[in-house]
Amino acid sequence: MKILLHACCGPCSIYPVQVLREQGMDVMGYFYRHNIHPYTECLKRQETLQAYADRTDFKVIVQEGYDLEGFLRDIVFRESDRCRLCYHRRLTATALVARKGKFDCFSTTLLYSKFQNHAVIRDIGEAVSKATGIAFHYHDFREGWKTGVTESKRICMYRQQYCGCVYSEKERYFKRY
Ligand code: SF4
Repeated sequence: MKILLHACCGPCSIYPVQVLREQGMDVMGYFYRHNIHPYTECLKRQETLQAYADRTDFKVIVQEGYDLEGFLRDIVFRESDRCRLCYHRRLTATALVARKGKFDCFSTTLLYSKFQNHAVIRDIGEAVSKATGIAFHYHDFREGWKTGVTESKRICMYRQQYCGCVYSEKERYFKRY
């Protein structure tokens, strides 16, 4: 079974790729860029993911362009609901690429994170599946949180300190001062 896995970054991809391969899936990654700010941070995460992909024979499709402006336009005045919009954007983009590439299903490394709203991601994945006609493969990858963290540290992978957008960067650092 061919699965397209939305990969938000290298560290969060380790455990989901391992599990999906153990389930007998042919896994390919999809790196969505518009929500990762600033651009230099996006490149750093992309390079980290690509280096990991190269060493594990994990093919990754990288989203073209960098529509930071479009992402912000979607969020402005709806900042308090921004993660829901962001999940929807990322999962829809993944499902559309999966449909075009004739994958059997799609999933996301967001289901690995202890810091994301897991239930909302699952609901949105299922809604996007209905809208696009591509099956959503749900798995609670949080069970492997420690495994992924340990491995990413062992191989000295870059581990980001905030979720991705400028809002999350502010939340991470502004409170300190
Ligand atoms: S905090 Fe993370 S999930 Fe929420 S909008 Fe920003 S990048 Fe997206």
